[in-house]
Amino acid sequence: MRPNQSLPSGRFAPSPTGRMHLGNIFTALISWLSIKKAGGKWILRIEDIDPQRSKYEYAIQIEDDLRWLGLTWDEGGIANNGENGPYRQSLRQDIYDKYLRKITESGLTYPCFCTRADIMATQAPHQSDGRVIYQGTCRPESLPVKKTTIRSDKPHAIRLFVPDEEISFTDKIFGMQSSNLAHDCGDFVLKRADGAWAYQLAVVIDDALMGVTEVVRGNDLLLSTAQQLYIYRLLGFREPIHAHLPLVCNSQRQRLSKRDQALSMSELRKFHSPEEIIGQVAFMANLIPLYHPCRPTDLIESFDWDKIPRQHLIQV
Ligand code: GLU
Repeated sequence: MRPNQSLPSGRFAPSPTGRMHLGNIFTALISWLSIKKAGGKWILRIEDIDPQRSKYEYAIQIEDDLRWLGLTWDEGGIANNGENGPYRQSLRQDIYDKYLRKITESGLTYPCFCTRADIMATQAPHQSDGRVIYQGTCRPESLPVKKTTIRSDKPHAIRLFVPDEEISFTDKIFGMQSSNLAHDCGDFVLKRADGAWAYQLAVVIDDALMGVTEVVRGNDLLLSTAQQLYIYRLLGFREPIHAHLPLVCNSQRQRLSKRDQALSMSELRKFHSPEEIIGQVAFMANLIPLYHPCRPTDLIESFDWDKIPRQHLIQV
């Protein structure tokens, strides 16, 4: 059965690679509030796609932290509660395989034998913003790629051909965005040489099949969105609304990572109540004018996307 499209569906899609921090809680809270205010459904999907970095114990811990904070989900989670499961990416490999085959049949994918070192050696010296742009070393001369021309004896990644054209969308917070994938990232990986599925492919398939209409996440993923929209269009999926949130930074103005112990849930839970943590995030996010402890449900009625700042939130 297709999900009910008349009400919005949102999701929180944590990677269980460590304990959540204040930034993750901010994302979860805003997504939850937006959906609850609209009377929609909030899904918890466990993005344990990277077998080396994901741990089941962290997924359990994430669920426990969300419940403790009062951010409960209507569908998903480890228990696979819902009709669009499974909700753990590690259990969805057959689904990814089916859609990869669909894209491959259109002749837009090719095997790539480059190692990371090969790719780094082709980067322009001025490429200092950390972005890696694939220069097309393994790209076949012409498209569509026919199966018979594919030499796949050695381990290889599968790359997706990208067009030299602008992909645009309107972000709910950052407004009009546009990216030319050929310039901004080049042909990108759908499946890694070690067999692991790429986030870009899995996230699109999951959001589309789970009926997600509103994607809320940190703006470190803003540049990924054009790649994902390209996949949405190739597969004929309906595109969701995107809202990329400003990042939460520590007092040194660095974006929080799972390594920032002081603002991780393990530390926060030792010293604060759930109401204090939610109140702190709501205050940082401009949802309440003065700090006071509160529960997520207290914030639903007054929630308004226009209150959320665009600049990074600094935790002091
Ligand atoms: N799994 C990603 C993370 O934890 C989030 C992906 C997304 O929201 O699209 O950073």
